[in-house]
This record gives sequence, C-alpha cells and structure tokens, in this order.
Amino acid sequence: MTSREPPHKLLLRAEWIWRGGSGPALRDRAIVVNDGRVIAVQEVKSAGDAHPDAETIDFGAAIVLPGLINAHTHLELSAAAPGERPASFGEWILSLPRRMGRQTNQDADELFARSTRAGIEQCLRFGVTTIGDISQQMHVTRPILRDSPLRAVSFGEVLGLARRRDRFEQLLPRAIDESLASERLQIGLTPHAPYTVEPRDIERCAQIARQRALPLAIHLAETPEESEVIRSHTGAFQDIWKLLGFWDDFPGAFAGSPVAFAQSLGLLDQPTLLAHVNYCDDADLDLLARAAVRARGRKRGHPEYPAMTPSNPSAAPRDILDVPFSAASVVYCPRTHAYFGHPPHRWREMLSRGINVAVGTDSCASSPDLNLVDDLRVLHEIAPEHPVESLWQLATTNAAKAIQWKGDVNELADFTLFDVATNDPLREILESPDRLPREIWMAGVKQPIAAMKTTVR
Ligand SMILES: [Zn+2]
Repeated sequence: MTSREPPHKLLLRAEWIWRGGSGPALRDRAIVVNDGRVIAVQEVKSAGDAHPDAETIDFGAAIVLPGLINAHTHLELSAAAPGERPASFGEWILSLPRRMGRQTNQDADELFARSTRAGIEQCLRFGVTTIGDISQQMHVTRPILRDSPLRAVSFGEVLGLARRRDRFEQLLPRAIDESLASERLQIGLTPHAPYTVEPRDIERCAQIARQRALPLAIHLAETPEESEVIRSHTGAFQDIWKLLGFWDDFPGAFAGSPVAFAQSLGLLDQPTLLAHVNYCDDADLDLLARAAVRARGRKRGHPEYPAMTPSNPSAAPRDILDVPFSAASVVYCPRTHAYFGHPPHRWREMLSRGINVAVGTDSCASSPDLNLVDDLRVLHEIAPEHPVESLWQLATTNAAKAIQWKGDVNELADFTLFDVATNDPLREILESPDRLPREIWMAGVKQPIAAMKTTVR
C-alpha cells in the first residue's frame, strides 16, 4: 500500500456538502483533493468519471463544511476561566493573571506554552482549522503554531503608553518579525486598543501594515469607558494606568467616538480587523458602511473613487497601491459579549449595510471555551429568522476576509464534518446543542481528535 505517495488524489463524498458563500448545502456532490488542495467540487458521478485514479472516501449521512475560522481569539490565555462576571471591565483586566492561575514558582512562558497547546487542541476538537490569534507572547506562541496543524494569522500585539511607551518600542520589532512565517502561519500586527496605545503609534502600526502588507487588527469600541479615554484621556482607563503608576498625559485627544477615532487614523479604509465594536451608534454605522462603499468603488474604478493604479497615485496613498484594497471588518464574539452584558450588537444592520462581519470567541478568560459553533448557536437563538447560510459564512468566508488570510481559502482542503439526519443540515447543527464534529481534515489529511482538556492548570 503506497497510498501516501504523491500525488495522492482523494474523492470525498457525503450526503451533504457546503462550500461557504450564500448558497445552500448541496446533495450528491464530491470534493476532489489532490496534493492537499481542492481541485474540483462536482456531482459524484462526473467526479468519479473525471478522476478514476482517486481513492474514494464516503462519509455517509454527514455534511462536509469548510474548516471553520475563529476570527478573534487569544490562545495564550486558554488556561484562564471566565468565572463570575466582573464588576467592571477594568477589574477583569487587572484580574487576568489570577484568572490564568499562575503559581508563584511557575515559569510564565511555560504556562503560556501549555495554554497555547490546550487552545490548539480545543480549536481542532471544535472544528476550527484557522484562527486570527492575538498574541503578546509571540516568542512562545509562534513556534508552537508553526509546528501545529492549525492555520493562523498571528497578530503580534503591541501596547504601552505614557511612561510605558518603551514597552511599545520593545514589542513592535518582535510583533512584525516574519522569520517564523510559513504558508500556514501568517504574521499580522495589532495595536491592542485605544486605551493602551497612543494615537500616533496606532497610526504608525496602520502605516507599517500597509507598507509590509501585514494583516492589521485592533480591539475597538469594546466598552462604554473607551469613549472617555479617547475624548479626554480621563475616566476608568486612566484610573487603571494611574493605579499601575505609569500615567502621564500624551498627545492626541480626539473629539469623537471610537469608530470615528479609528476613521481619523485611517483604520477604516484598509482591511483592519475591528474586534468587538459593541458600542456603535448610527453615525458610526454610517462611517463603517461608507468605508465599505469606498472600498468597493475603488475596486470597480467608481468615478467618485477612482481606481488605484500606478498612473493615478492621487487616488490613494502611494504605500497602499499594491495591497488588495478592502475596508475594515467587524468581529463579534457573542458569548464574550453576553458575559460582559453589553447592549445588543448591531451585526445584522452591519451585514445589511455591506460591512464585513465575522464571528470569534475571544479568549477563555471571557468565553466558556473555544467552541465557535456555540457562538453561532447564540446568533441563531438571537435571530432565528436570519438565513443559516449567512450565519455559517460568519465563521468561514467572512472570517477569512476579516483576518486578511493571504491565499484562496476555497482551495484549502480543510474540512469539518458533522453527522446529520435531516434535510436542513446547516440548521440542524445549530439546533443540536451538544453536537461536535465527527472528523477534522487539514490539507487533505484527517486529524486525530484529542480527548478534551479544557484546563491546563
Ligand atoms: Zn480580544
């Protein structure tokens, strides 16, 4: 038996196949995989005729979905547990070390490494094959991710303002270091949030991301307190910095909302991943929608927004000419959102206004686990009338766009397979609370599913 010798061609068939996009799940289709890539999706009979050399695997009464994409998580915090809802967001931030359960004599890197491995196990157990991972411990997480089967955009997190500006300068070169990058591990950059990074440094990150074509992310409009720190550098977040002894005033107070602030720094007119946007008024929604319109207009060469070409450099800053142009995306983390008790998220209005919305879990410090399908189940409960295909898109097509994955996700032979019994399989999974994937495939290879370890203490 020499079945692993290249080229290894597979014909995967199941009762149902769904390939992302807005279309429904299809019956009697086969996916043909060659050398770890999808080369065709067609009717079973014609696939068999066209690829007689392929080894056939029949999954039976199941649906084959693309590997799911968790657009926002922090694997290095997977050792944490959310526990009781905190009295304030600030209290939650300050309690993170305690929530991680670090013992006094325990090496921090060792804890972050075990935490990251546990997070990877959870992703694979729950059908997630690609992540947008925020990491401040890049020296720990990136080598582990590089050697894991997961695909990841590792957003190197930078922060530090006022008297801790030196921290920002230390983290920046590490964050954008692409030496561990591979086809599966892509390097991105994330200034943490408007209350931990000075405006000029957020702008600098946006510029670096454009120049180096790095995916960019930021936590934005996550809590009501964020507005105050942006407008006047006062309030709850200033109190935390004072408590830590690092407060000093810095330039760049901005008279507007967090979304308007992001717009002023240029973040909405590049494909920035905006994590949360829990606080979004009508004017903010307009700003996000208009950025999406501008992006589409530029792509099509709309007269109002001329196409960006080398002969027409005035249409855009020179340094973004070579970047596939797109607007900011919003990532909504439903269970984390519920944990903190924020007001209803405007994700459906965002979608209907043409804004790209994806779904994420955030970390195990605010979500019970990394089961992304449970987050989709929350959305299905909030909006049972919303088309189920559109919900699954939040964890596939839209998520790939949000994390700015480089490459064609339709070609990836990453699959998540669920047993199903009805004629409405995408809905059936969302309405079956305990159902877990039967199999996970990465690049055309079935992955062993580890016994769940949700704690690493
Ligand atoms: Zn986060």
